[in-house]
Amino acid sequence: MKTKYNVDELGFYGKFGGAFIPEMLYPNVEELKENYLKIMAEPSFQEEFNHLLQQYVGRPTPLYFAKRLSEKYHTKIYLKREDLCHTGAHKVNNTIGQILMAKRLGKKRIIAETGAGQHGVATATVCALMGLECIVYMGEIDIQRQAPNVARMKMLGATVRPATSGSKTLKDATNEAIRDWINNPVDTFYIIGSVVGPHPYPDMVARFQSVISKEIQTQLQAQEGKDNPDYVIACVGGGSNAAGAFFEFLENESVQLIAVEAAGHGVDSGESAATSVLGKIGIIHGSKTLLMQTEDGQITEPYSISAGLDYPGVGPLHAHLHDSNRAEFIAITDADAMQAGLDLSKTEGIIPAIESAHAFAVLDKKTFQPDEIVVINLSGRGDKDLNTYIDYFNLSD
Ligand SMILES: *Cc1c(COP(=O)(O)O)cnc(C)c1O
Repeated sequence: MKTKYNVDELGFYGKFGGAFIPEMLYPNVEELKENYLKIMAEPSFQEEFNHLLQQYVGRPTPLYFAKRLSEKYHTKIYLKREDLCHTGAHKVNNTIGQILMAKRLGKKRIIAETGAGQHGVATATVCALMGLECIVYMGEIDIQRQAPNVARMKMLGATVRPATSGSKTLKDATNEAIRDWINNPVDTFYIIGSVVGPHPYPDMVARFQSVISKEIQTQLQAQEGKDNPDYVIACVGGGSNAAGAFFEFLENESVQLIAVEAAGHGVDSGESAATSVLGKIGIIHGSKTLLMQTEDGQITEPYSISAGLDYPGVGPLHAHLHDSNRAEFIAITDADAMQAGLDLSKTEGIIPAIESAHAFAVLDKKTFQPDEIVVINLSGRGDKDLNTYIDYFNLSD
């Protein structure tokens, strides 16, 4: 089927995507590219993936009609409750899929990179589940900033290796992971945490996360008698929760897609992560996409109060959705996101991850009609962010 928004045979979404990798990685990426669709289509793979999503992750997650929030904004608001997944966010949908892929390809050793540690925890979790060796690369500075997630990974049996070069953050951890993969091409599988990286990763991750929009369709049919909402809103770091929430609606242009980025202190403040506004086309993590860079093409350090949105690029699907105007991109400041997180807590009794809170802040920026159906993807729970909320709102007084 010819589509406008899915990946083409060469791994491109419009002019974005592809696989820009060192020659030494070519066999690994080629092996995955040749096999991923075949393996994902196997009934035994589907069965094992669906079984684990149900019994281990706790899917389907509810599509919850938020009555008080709907009354406040005079429209019909549904929350897709990815915060209720095991480990507290959507990331585990993808790591389950990729570890099953690794096993089918006969791999014995798993590597991953992590920034805030959420993807590292989701990877360490599934490695424990499958009894596979797990090595997580993490910038030295991030190790200091994210001590609880480092402790979680260690409890789960993973080895956390510090990246000590450059800015000692996510991009340096990514470099270390790629170096490891080059040195261990035969037995190692690299689990990437978002819809980023060389083809076929963005497409593979989007397909694993597409369970989110498949469930939205079924659940909306049961609750509203129709399977398409008017709007789907999701926050974008690399873009995996948004890709999953948008996936089944990409070709149906009556569904309006809203991608929410972190403006940090403001898009013009020099402290931001709003790639759609500040980014230019370039290559990051093996993919041609929009990224924040200096005049001479060096990646700029992004900033957001939420660690999960603090990424200097977006995946190639999102670059294309932006370029083609299929999705509307909105940048939300730290201040507006924090307020939206507090408001959701008080209105619905749900404390969101600060990443997800960015998506809720859109409710104050746009107006929706009373009979419109707005689905917000609640990508994760706020437990991990409690200290940030406490400091920001002086809640310990
Ligand atoms: C990691 C994370 C994100 C951002 O990652 P995407 O790939 O853009 O989804 C968003 N929300 C939560 C809760 C996260 O942990």
